[in-house]
Amino acid sequence: MDQIYLDNAACTPVDLRVIAYAAPFSDGTIGNPSTLHSRGLGARAALEDAREKIKALLHAEDDKCIVFTSGATEANNLAIQGTALRNPKLGNHLVASAIEHISVLNPMKGLQKQGYTFDLIPVDAYGMVDLEALKKLVTKGTAVVSVMAANSEIGTIEPIREVSAIVHDAGAYLHVDATAAAGHIPVDVQRDGIDLCSVSSNDLTGPQGAGALYIKSGVKVQPVLVGGGQERGLRPGTENLFAIVGMGEAARLTQLEMVQEADRVRRIRDALITGMVSVKESYLTGHPALRLPNQASFRFSYIEGESIVLLMDQFGVQVSTGSACSSLTLEPSHVLLALGLKHEQVHGSMVLSLGKSNTPDQVPHVISAVTETVNRLRALSPLSNDRR
Ligand code: PMP
Repeated sequence: MDQIYLDNAACTPVDLRVIAYAAPFSDGTIGNPSTLHSRGLGARAALEDAREKIKALLHAEDDKCIVFTSGATEANNLAIQGTALRNPKLGNHLVASAIEHISVLNPMKGLQKQGYTFDLIPVDAYGMVDLEALKKLVTKGTAVVSVMAANSEIGTIEPIREVSAIVHDAGAYLHVDATAAAGHIPVDVQRDGIDLCSVSSNDLTGPQGAGALYIKSGVKVQPVLVGGGQERGLRPGTENLFAIVGMGEAARLTQLEMVQEADRVRRIRDALITGMVSVKESYLTGHPALRLPNQASFRFSYIEGESIVLLMDQFGVQVSTGSACSSLTLEPSHVLLALGLKHEQVHGSMVLSLGKSNTPDQVPHVISAVTETVNRLRALSPLSNDRR
């Protein structure tokens, strides 16, 4: 049976062109970018070439604005801790949308131990940030506000330009986690008024183990890790050249092919949504229109997401329930709870994130696998049986 992979938000297969492009940087023939001899200079040139490509992806004003990290988690930590701690004059108040990734929420919660206060911006039933609530929350003492460009669990695209205007009116910095959005929809840090922006290599079809933080010219940030002077001293440690070079090339290819690929996956996604919402008591989560082209997410009454994942796998379809990072905890998804859903409603969630391997002819098999999965699990579910 052919496998149908619909969990690209958790792990995206690396583009084979990217692996070929970056291969010379993993075989030991290229040196350390910080060294002065010819091997080092070759490595430095490759690192700077990758930086140019990330600059282009985010439409940054200068390649010096791009700092490479080990992934989006580290970029988010650097953006929040590094900016808040380096700019005490801004104040000690932090704000994030209620549906941020845990690598944004946890650094903010952590700073509470150092005297910072922290507020969550509520979202509506589709996951859109409440701009009126944001206006009331950001004050003169707010240092950093974090709102993601799009949510990987429900696909909703946030109104970043409007958020930026409100945040800058109050004199705070805006951090945007663009991990789920970059490469799928345009992200333009200058047009959208973004001060700090995180991206991850693997979400761009690049190798795991690299990410980047855009830091607007003039925004002062202090390092979270301390050590050598790499990455302008903001991210010490020898660069993961294979992953970074691969990330740069993946960003270039993804950007080049974005419009065409988004149109292609959007059609498959829409066919999946049409089929899925015809299953009894199933509901689309996230915004019906303002959502990532590669993302479809649902909830099914009376059943559990973990069981959905396992049974779908037996039908040869890999899906997710909520974010891969928090699913290890078995906690109900904070994203779905923020939409105003009850605990019992958020448990039966299923997230489909599409990628290059998905084709329209897979749709009927996925829909029949979901229908069969839901019917079988409901037949076993005491919650469902209570209602008969
Ligand atoms: N932010 C978002 C929105 C994510 O979806 C993820 C997971 N891909 C991360 C941050 C963390 O990324 P990484 O695994 O590269 O640290």
